[in-house]
Amino acid sequence: MTKFIFITGGVVSSLGKGIVSSSLASLLTLSNYKVRIRKLDPYLNIDPGTMNPSQHGEVFVTDDGAETDMDLGHYERFTGIISKKSDNITSGKIFSEVLKKERRGDYLGSTVQVIPHVTDEIKKFIKKDLNKEDFVICEIGGTVGDIESLPFLEALRQLRNELGRSKTFFIHLTLVPFLSSANEFKTKPTQHSVKELLGLGIQPDLLLCRTEKKFDQKAKQKISLFCNISMKSVILVENANTIYEVPLKLNNQGILEQIFNHFSLKSQGNVNLELWEDFLKKFYKLKKSVSVAIVGKYTNLSESYKSLNEALFHSGIFNNTKVEVRWIDSKKIERISDCENILRSFNGILVPGGFGKDGTIGKINAIKISKKLKIPFLGICFGMQLAILESISNLKGFEKASSTEFGKTSTPVISMIHEWTKNKKIITLDRKNLGGSMRLGSYTSILLKGSRASLIYNRKKINERHRHRYEVNYNYKNDIEKSGVILSGMSPDGNLVEIMERHDHPWFLGVQFHPELKSTPFKPHPIFNSFIKALLNNYNSYEKNQN
Ligand code: GLN
Repeated sequence: MTKFIFITGGVVSSLGKGIVSSSLASLLTLSNYKVRIRKLDPYLNIDPGTMNPSQHGEVFVTDDGAETDMDLGHYERFTGIISKKSDNITSGKIFSEVLKKERRGDYLGSTVQVIPHVTDEIKKFIKKDLNKEDFVICEIGGTVGDIESLPFLEALRQLRNELGRSKTFFIHLTLVPFLSSANEFKTKPTQHSVKELLGLGIQPDLLLCRTEKKFDQKAKQKISLFCNISMKSVILVENANTIYEVPLKLNNQGILEQIFNHFSLKSQGNVNLELWEDFLKKFYKLKKSVSVAIVGKYTNLSESYKSLNEALFHSGIFNNTKVEVRWIDSKKIERISDCENILRSFNGILVPGGFGKDGTIGKINAIKISKKLKIPFLGICFGMQLAILESISNLKGFEKASSTEFGKTSTPVISMIHEWTKNKKIITLDRKNLGGSMRLGSYTSILLKGSRASLIYNRKKINERHRHRYEVNYNYKNDIEKSGVILSGMSPDGNLVEIMERHDHPWFLGVQFHPELKSTPFKPHPIFNSFIKALLNNYNSYEKNQN
């Protein structure tokens, strides 16, 4: 029967609950257990799709088209387990489900309350859509003590009561700060946080203590005594050089032993950590280095583009290369001479996904400079749309080519499907659920034989994840091609542009999808692998590369 591990956080936010949840999931997967990881978010939004990424971090898109919390990205990267829509739930979704039922009369006249109706719905989600998993790890967003988390913690308390101790395990992540004035690690915040949990009826089975550096036995003893937990169950999560060190650090302190003992499982010591060890060995021995300028709008917070940062890092390791990423605020390169001065020193230029007209001048400038100076260029989603616009606008009569995202235009080279298929039903997408007006989730592209895209993937058909409203307008296909663009990836019906490239340039590629969402340390994405290689080689010529 499935066992449930619940991970809560205390003291402060941003301690890395997502990373420890992913690391534990990785250790269990590598011990040959079948695992699912889920995120329970206490906020009231239905999903993070509408939330500002500079406030809440990246919106991670799943294969089945859900806009989810960025922690699901960590889960996939650490474990390779593909997340599903049903792996992320928010208070918003829970409440709207309860209210829908209330309107339908499902509650048969009873008073609808947080306990039991909301908590029942949370418990149902935790146990829903499972397929003989050995473990379900549930990470609870937010910090214990938040008003929003209360129904979730109450649901967990009830679950332990219903399923019993032998089927449930509680992990609490807290902070143990070092006070330099007292030259001491302070355990009081942890004690208070555990007290808070106890007040809600939950006694943690294991404590993960975030700390800047290793703390002594004395602090551990104190935590053990005051939090009613054995010394072995107090595990340190000290600062690491990379998040990918965390699985090994947790394993070294016997986290699996604690979990297996609790559940009376035998397979202790069988965890195969070779993949992580090899990855880290490479990480510590990087010989080369390249620099990439990422030209974007949300430059203040690298969390907004978490998967992109990670994908570049994975492919860097794959190429034995340290990738120095610098975020360039597109507003600061609106003068082409400034743009050239800043970007000329980089090995590569990347224009990532984005929304809205604001900041596009600088992004278009970056594309122009990459063409002029033959600097390898990768355009992702919005970046590809802008590369198409930049190209076609060099043709006579297309100087004003634009996207309907920026307002009314006489040349809508980028627009929404329904805007350019009026009266002509030519679009036959391979999946129907367009989730509002966005194209979300995994779609198939067919690659052009002999193109760079097909060389990179070494296959004819690929599946990648999308998250966008606008598309390249098929009616301008010929003019786009006339401007020097090769449309090397198309939807199976041949109507939607999925990949574009230039052959008058050493390495210039634009993709309508988000390849970064599928990169993992053990399976770095071929597009990023090739991009980093291009930066290293300063790619000689496209023709040469074909051999
Ligand atoms: N804003 C563009 C669109 O909606 C691109 C979106 C993106 O880059 N994710 O189509």
